[in-house]
Amino acid sequence: MIPLVEVDLEAKAPKLSDGGAFSATPLVQRVDPLFGHSCRIVAGAKLQPEQSPNLGEITDRKGFCPFCADTIDSATFPFPTEMIPSGRISKGACRVVPNILAYSTYSAVGIYDPGRHFLSLSDFTFDILNDAISAMAEHGRLVRKYDSRLSYSSINANYLPSSGSSLIHPHLQSSHDFVPLGSQRRMAEVFDQYFEENRSGYLDDLVLQERVGPRWVGSIGSVDYLVPFAPSGFHEVWGVVNGATDVVDLTLDQIEDLAHGIEKILGIYEAKHLSAFNYSLQGLPHGEGGNGAKMLYRITTRSSVEAYYRSDITYFERLCAEPMIDYSPEVWASELAAIF
Ligand SMILES: [Zn+2]
Repeated sequence: MIPLVEVDLEAKAPKLSDGGAFSATPLVQRVDPLFGHSCRIVAGAKLQPEQSPNLGEITDRKGFCPFCADTIDSATFPFPTEMIPSGRISKGACRVVPNILAYSTYSAVGIYDPGRHFLSLSDFTFDILNDAISAMAEHGRLVRKYDSRLSYSSINANYLPSSGSSLIHPHLQSSHDFVPLGSQRRMAEVFDQYFEENRSGYLDDLVLQERVGPRWVGSIGSVDYLVPFAPSGFHEVWGVVNGATDVVDLTLDQIEDLAHGIEKILGIYEAKHLSAFNYSLQGLPHGEGGNGAKMLYRITTRSSVEAYYRSDITYFERLCAEPMIDYSPEVWASELAAIF
Protein backbone atom coordinates (compact mmCIF):
# COMPACT_ATOMS: atom_id res chain seq x y z
CA MET A 1 0.00 0.00 0.00
CA ILE A 2 1.40 3.40 -0.96
CA PRO A 3 0.79 5.88 1.88
CA LEU A 4 -1.24 8.89 0.73
CA VAL A 5 -1.11 11.26 3.70
CA GLU A 6 -3.39 14.26 4.04
CA VAL A 7 -3.41 16.65 7.00
CA ASP A 8 -6.22 19.12 7.74
CA LEU A 9 -4.43 22.41 8.44
CA GLU A 10 -7.47 23.78 10.26
CA ALA A 11 -7.25 27.17 8.56
CA LYS A 12 -9.18 30.03 10.09
CA ALA A 13 -9.85 33.21 8.14
CA PRO A 14 -12.28 36.11 8.21
CA LYS A 15 -15.40 35.40 6.18
CA LEU A 16 -16.51 38.28 3.95
CA SER A 17 -20.11 37.13 3.92
CA ASP A 18 -20.18 37.07 7.72
CA GLY A 19 -18.90 40.56 8.51
CA GLY A 20 -15.29 39.34 8.85
CA ALA A 21 -15.95 36.80 11.57
CA PHE A 22 -13.20 34.18 11.78
CA SER A 23 -14.35 30.78 10.67
CA ALA A 24 -12.99 27.42 9.51
CA THR A 25 -11.78 27.37 5.88
CA PRO A 26 -10.92 24.16 3.98
CA LEU A 27 -7.14 23.71 3.65
CA VAL A 28 -5.21 20.45 3.49
CA GLN A 29 -1.58 19.47 3.06
CA ARG A 30 -0.71 16.35 1.09
CA VAL A 31 2.64 14.62 0.56
CA ASP A 32 3.68 13.00 -2.71
CA PRO A 33 5.46 9.77 -1.73
CA LEU A 34 7.29 9.45 -5.06
CA PHE A 35 8.92 12.85 -5.48
CA GLY A 36 8.79 13.85 -1.81
CA HIS A 37 7.25 17.31 -2.10
CA SER A 38 4.21 18.33 -0.15
CA CYS A 39 1.45 20.55 -1.51
CA ARG A 40 -1.36 22.52 0.04
CA ILE A 41 -4.76 22.49 -1.55
CA VAL A 42 -6.55 25.77 -0.98
CA ALA A 43 -10.22 26.60 -1.35
CA GLY A 44 -11.79 29.75 -2.69
CA ALA A 45 -8.70 31.12 -4.46
CA LYS A 46 -9.26 32.32 -8.02
CA LEU A 47 -5.86 31.81 -9.57
CA GLN A 48 -6.99 30.36 -12.88
CA PRO A 49 -8.01 32.49 -15.89
CA GLU A 50 -11.69 33.20 -16.58
CA GLN A 51 -11.12 33.50 -20.31
CA SER A 52 -8.60 32.46 -22.94
CA PRO A 53 -5.73 34.91 -23.44
CA ASN A 54 -5.43 36.80 -26.71
CA LEU A 55 -2.38 35.06 -28.16
CA GLY A 56 -2.21 36.88 -31.51
CA GLU A 57 0.21 39.49 -30.23
CA ILE A 58 2.90 36.93 -29.45
CA THR A 59 2.07 34.12 -31.85
CA ASP A 60 2.09 36.06 -35.13
CA ARG A 61 5.50 35.70 -36.71
CA LYS A 62 7.12 39.11 -36.66
CA GLY A 63 10.63 38.36 -37.83
CA PHE A 64 13.23 35.63 -37.95
CA CYS A 65 12.25 32.21 -36.59
CA PRO A 66 14.83 29.39 -36.73
CA PHE A 67 12.12 26.72 -36.69
CA CYS A 68 9.96 27.92 -39.62
CA ALA A 69 10.11 25.95 -42.86
CA ASP A 70 11.78 28.75 -44.84
CA THR A 71 14.69 29.10 -42.41
CA ILE A 72 15.10 25.78 -40.58
CA ASP A 73 17.66 24.37 -43.01
CA SER A 74 19.93 27.40 -42.83
CA ALA A 75 19.35 28.22 -39.16
CA THR A 76 19.96 24.73 -37.73
CA PHE A 77 22.80 22.26 -38.16
CA PRO A 78 22.70 18.60 -39.19
CA PHE A 79 23.82 15.92 -36.74
CA PRO A 80 27.27 14.36 -37.38
CA THR A 81 26.63 11.32 -39.61
CA GLU A 82 28.59 9.03 -37.25
CA MET A 83 25.92 9.89 -34.66
CA ILE A 84 22.81 10.08 -36.85
CA PRO A 85 23.56 8.30 -40.16
CA SER A 86 21.18 10.43 -42.23
CA GLY A 87 22.26 13.66 -40.52
CA ARG A 88 18.65 14.69 -39.92
CA ILE A 89 15.56 12.99 -38.49
CA SER A 90 12.00 13.66 -39.55
CA LYS A 91 8.68 11.91 -39.18
CA GLY A 92 5.46 13.26 -40.66
CA ALA A 93 5.58 17.02 -40.15
CA CYS A 94 8.15 16.81 -37.33
CA ARG A 95 11.84 17.68 -37.77
CA VAL A 96 14.49 16.88 -35.16
CA VAL A 97 17.64 19.04 -35.02
CA PRO A 98 20.55 19.32 -32.57
CA ASN A 99 20.00 21.73 -29.70
CA ILE A 100 22.39 24.67 -29.75
CA LEU A 101 21.85 25.25 -26.04
CA ALA A 102 23.89 22.58 -24.27
CA TYR A 103 21.84 21.60 -21.23
CA SER A 104 22.57 17.87 -21.53
CA THR A 105 25.46 15.79 -22.83
CA TYR A 106 23.29 15.30 -25.93
CA SER A 107 20.04 17.11 -26.52
CA ALA A 108 17.79 17.57 -29.50
CA VAL A 109 14.88 19.80 -30.43
CA GLY A 110 11.86 18.44 -32.26
CA ILE A 111 9.80 20.98 -34.17
CA TYR A 112 6.28 19.56 -34.34
CA ASP A 113 5.60 21.30 -37.66
CA PRO A 114 8.02 23.74 -39.28
CA GLY A 115 5.18 24.68 -41.68
CA ARG A 116 3.16 26.30 -38.89
CA HIS A 117 4.79 29.00 -36.76
CA PHE A 118 2.19 28.47 -34.06
CA LEU A 119 0.06 25.56 -32.96
CA SER A 120 -2.82 26.28 -30.59
CA LEU A 121 -3.64 23.62 -28.00
CA SER A 122 -6.31 22.16 -30.27
CA ASP A 123 -3.78 21.93 -33.13
CA PHE A 124 -1.91 19.22 -31.19
CA THR A 125 -3.66 16.36 -32.94
CA PHE A 126 -2.82 12.71 -32.51
CA ASP A 127 -0.68 12.73 -35.68
CA ILE A 128 1.32 15.80 -34.62
CA LEU A 129 2.05 14.31 -31.19
CA ASN A 130 2.63 10.77 -32.40
CA ASP A 131 5.11 11.83 -35.10
CA ALA A 132 6.98 14.15 -32.72
CA ILE A 133 7.40 11.64 -29.90
CA SER A 134 8.34 8.90 -32.39
CA ALA A 135 10.99 11.11 -33.98
CA MET A 136 12.45 12.11 -30.61
CA ALA A 137 12.53 8.47 -29.48
CA GLU A 138 14.34 7.55 -32.71
CA HIS A 139 16.94 10.25 -32.04
CA GLY A 140 17.28 8.88 -28.50
CA ARG A 141 17.90 5.35 -29.75
CA LEU A 142 20.59 6.50 -32.19
CA VAL A 143 22.40 8.79 -29.76
CA ARG A 144 22.37 6.16 -27.01
CA LYS A 145 23.86 3.68 -29.49
CA TYR A 146 26.48 6.24 -30.52
CA ASP A 147 27.68 6.94 -26.96
CA SER A 148 27.41 3.95 -24.65
CA ARG A 149 28.08 6.07 -21.54
CA LEU A 150 24.58 7.51 -21.83
CA SER A 151 21.84 5.82 -19.88
CA TYR A 152 19.38 8.48 -18.70
CA SER A 153 16.93 9.81 -21.29
CA SER A 154 13.85 11.98 -21.21
CA ILE A 155 11.57 13.78 -23.68
CA ASN A 156 10.25 17.11 -22.43
CA ALA A 157 8.44 20.25 -23.52
CA ASN A 158 7.83 23.86 -22.64
CA TYR A 159 5.05 25.69 -24.50
CA LEU A 160 4.81 29.50 -24.59
CA PRO A 161 7.00 31.91 -22.58
CA SER A 162 5.29 31.50 -19.22
CA SER A 163 6.33 27.83 -19.27
CA GLY A 164 9.98 28.76 -19.80
CA SER A 165 9.97 28.45 -23.58
CA SER A 166 12.29 30.94 -25.26
CA LEU A 167 10.84 30.44 -28.75
CA ILE A 168 7.16 30.71 -29.67
CA HIS A 169 7.34 28.13 -32.47
CA PRO A 170 6.13 24.95 -30.67
CA HIS A 171 8.84 22.38 -30.05
CA LEU A 172 9.83 19.56 -27.70
CA GLN A 173 13.23 18.68 -26.33
CA SER A 174 15.22 15.71 -25.09
CA SER A 175 18.00 15.06 -22.61
CA HIS A 176 20.48 12.18 -22.81
CA ASP A 177 23.02 12.05 -19.99
CA PHE A 178 25.23 9.62 -18.09
CA VAL A 179 23.83 10.96 -14.81
CA PRO A 180 20.14 11.03 -13.82
CA LEU A 181 17.97 14.09 -13.59
CA GLY A 182 16.96 14.78 -9.99
CA SER A 183 13.53 13.30 -10.69
CA GLN A 184 15.06 10.19 -12.29
CA ARG A 185 17.34 9.74 -9.26
CA ARG A 186 14.33 10.00 -6.99
CA MET A 187 12.33 7.53 -9.11
CA ALA A 188 15.21 5.03 -9.07
CA GLU A 189 15.58 5.30 -5.28
CA VAL A 190 11.86 5.04 -4.49
CA PHE A 191 11.17 2.28 -7.04
CA ASP A 192 14.16 0.27 -5.75
CA GLN A 193 13.24 0.59 -2.11
CA TYR A 194 9.57 -0.14 -2.81
CA PHE A 195 10.43 -3.25 -4.80
CA GLU A 196 12.78 -4.47 -2.03
CA GLU A 197 10.05 -4.09 0.58
CA ASN A 198 6.99 -5.18 -1.41
CA ARG A 199 8.28 -7.32 -4.30
CA SER A 200 6.01 -5.31 -6.61
CA GLY A 201 6.42 -2.18 -8.69
CA TYR A 202 5.66 1.23 -7.17
CA LEU A 203 3.76 2.48 -10.21
CA ASP A 204 1.96 -0.87 -10.61
CA ASP A 205 0.69 -0.62 -7.05
CA LEU A 206 -0.16 3.08 -7.44
CA VAL A 207 -2.30 2.24 -10.46
CA LEU A 208 -3.97 -0.68 -8.65
CA GLN A 209 -4.70 1.54 -5.68
CA GLU A 210 -5.94 4.55 -7.66
CA ARG A 211 -7.87 2.62 -10.32
CA VAL A 212 -10.81 2.27 -7.96
CA GLY A 213 -10.57 5.78 -6.51
CA PRO A 214 -11.54 9.37 -7.30
CA ARG A 215 -8.28 10.35 -9.05
CA TRP A 216 -8.53 7.73 -11.79
CA VAL A 217 -8.76 9.09 -15.34
CA GLY A 218 -8.67 6.01 -17.58
CA SER A 219 -6.46 3.71 -19.65
CA ILE A 220 -5.58 4.07 -23.30
CA GLY A 221 -3.94 0.85 -24.46
CA SER A 222 -0.68 0.51 -22.55
CA VAL A 223 -0.88 3.84 -20.72
CA ASP A 224 -2.77 4.34 -17.44
CA TYR A 225 -3.75 7.96 -16.75
CA LEU A 226 -4.45 9.41 -13.31
CA VAL A 227 -4.31 12.69 -11.40
CA PRO A 228 -1.60 12.68 -8.71
CA PHE A 229 -2.73 12.80 -5.07
CA ALA A 230 -0.34 15.69 -4.31
CA PRO A 231 0.18 17.64 -7.56
CA SER A 232 3.36 19.60 -8.22
CA GLY A 233 1.51 22.10 -10.41
CA PHE A 234 -1.82 23.09 -11.86
CA HIS A 235 -3.99 20.59 -13.73
CA GLU A 236 -1.35 17.88 -13.53
CA VAL A 237 -1.89 14.46 -15.09
CA TRP A 238 0.32 11.37 -14.96
CA GLY A 239 0.55 8.60 -17.52
CA VAL A 240 2.13 5.30 -16.46
CA VAL A 241 3.56 3.53 -19.51
CA ASN A 242 3.23 -0.24 -19.13
CA GLY A 243 5.86 -2.43 -20.75
CA ALA A 244 8.62 0.19 -21.07
CA THR A 245 11.26 1.36 -18.62
CA ASP A 246 13.34 3.56 -20.90
CA VAL A 247 12.77 6.07 -23.73
CA VAL A 248 14.78 3.83 -26.06
CA ASP A 249 12.38 0.92 -25.42
CA LEU A 250 9.22 2.75 -26.43
CA THR A 251 7.21 0.85 -29.03
CA LEU A 252 5.05 2.42 -31.73
CA ASP A 253 1.93 1.26 -29.85
CA GLN A 254 3.05 2.84 -26.58
CA ILE A 255 3.82 6.12 -28.33
CA GLU A 256 0.38 6.05 -29.95
CA ASP A 257 -1.26 5.48 -26.57
CA LEU A 258 0.62 8.49 -25.18
CA ALA A 259 -0.28 10.67 -28.18
CA HIS A 260 -3.98 9.82 -27.84
CA GLY A 261 -3.91 10.76 -24.15
CA ILE A 262 -1.95 14.00 -24.59
CA GLU A 263 -4.33 15.10 -27.36
CA LYS A 264 -7.25 14.71 -24.94
CA ILE A 265 -5.45 16.52 -22.09
CA LEU A 266 -4.44 19.50 -24.26
CA GLY A 267 -8.01 19.66 -25.58
CA ILE A 268 -9.44 20.04 -22.08
CA TYR A 269 -6.72 22.57 -21.20
CA GLU A 270 -7.96 24.69 -24.09
CA ALA A 271 -11.59 24.30 -23.03
CA LYS A 272 -10.60 25.53 -19.54
CA HIS A 273 -8.82 28.64 -20.96
CA LEU A 274 -5.43 27.33 -19.83
CA SER A 275 -2.61 28.27 -22.18
CA ALA A 276 0.92 27.17 -21.29
CA PHE A 277 2.23 23.77 -20.21
CA ASN A 278 5.29 21.68 -19.38
CA TYR A 279 5.55 17.93 -19.84
CA SER A 280 8.17 15.29 -19.25
CA LEU A 281 8.42 11.63 -20.21
CA GLN A 282 11.10 9.95 -18.14
CA GLY A 283 12.45 6.45 -17.82
CA LEU A 284 15.35 4.67 -16.19
CA PRO A 285 18.16 2.49 -17.52
CA HIS A 286 17.58 -1.27 -17.45
CA GLY A 287 18.13 -2.70 -14.00
CA GLU A 288 17.53 0.55 -12.12
CA GLY A 289 14.49 0.94 -9.96
CA GLY A 290 13.99 -2.82 -9.46
CA ASN A 291 11.89 -5.14 -11.58
CA GLY A 292 8.83 -2.96 -11.26
CA ALA A 293 10.31 0.19 -12.84
CA LYS A 294 8.18 1.88 -15.51
CA MET A 295 8.19 5.06 -17.53
CA LEU A 296 6.22 8.00 -16.23
CA TYR A 297 4.74 10.85 -18.27
CA ARG A 298 3.74 14.01 -16.39
CA ILE A 299 2.09 17.17 -17.70
CA THR A 300 1.09 20.35 -15.87
CA THR A 301 -0.18 23.76 -16.93
CA ARG A 302 1.68 26.99 -16.27
CA SER A 303 0.61 30.60 -15.78
CA SER A 304 -1.58 32.20 -18.41
CA VAL A 305 0.46 34.09 -21.01
CA GLU A 306 -1.67 37.20 -20.53
CA ALA A 307 0.45 40.28 -19.84
CA TYR A 308 1.19 40.72 -16.13
CA TYR A 309 -0.71 37.57 -15.22
CA ARG A 310 0.61 36.32 -11.90
CA SER A 311 3.34 33.67 -11.98
CA ASP A 312 2.38 30.23 -10.77
CA ILE A 313 5.77 30.01 -9.05
CA THR A 314 5.52 31.82 -5.72
CA TYR A 315 7.77 31.43 -2.69
CA PHE A 316 5.74 28.32 -1.88
CA GLU A 317 6.88 26.55 -5.05
CA ARG A 318 10.31 28.12 -5.42
CA LEU A 319 11.61 28.03 -1.84
CA CYS A 320 9.25 25.93 0.28
CA ALA A 321 8.99 22.71 -1.80
CA GLU A 322 5.25 22.95 -1.27
CA PRO A 323 3.17 23.96 -4.31
CA MET A 324 -0.11 25.73 -3.60
CA ILE A 325 -2.87 24.13 -5.63
CA ASP A 326 -6.23 25.83 -6.12
CA TYR A 327 -8.16 22.94 -7.61
CA SER A 328 -9.35 19.63 -6.27
CA PRO A 329 -7.37 16.74 -7.82
CA GLU A 330 -10.52 14.62 -7.47
CA VAL A 331 -12.77 17.08 -9.34
CA TRP A 332 -10.12 17.54 -12.02
CA ALA A 333 -9.84 13.75 -12.43
CA SER A 334 -13.61 13.44 -12.87
CA GLU A 335 -13.55 16.09 -15.60
CA LEU A 336 -10.80 14.19 -17.40
CA ALA A 337 -12.41 10.79 -16.88
CA ALA A 338 -15.50 12.07 -18.72
CA ILE A 339 -13.50 12.49 -21.95
CA PHE A 340 -11.16 9.49 -21.64
ZN1 LIG B 1 8.44 29.70 -36.70
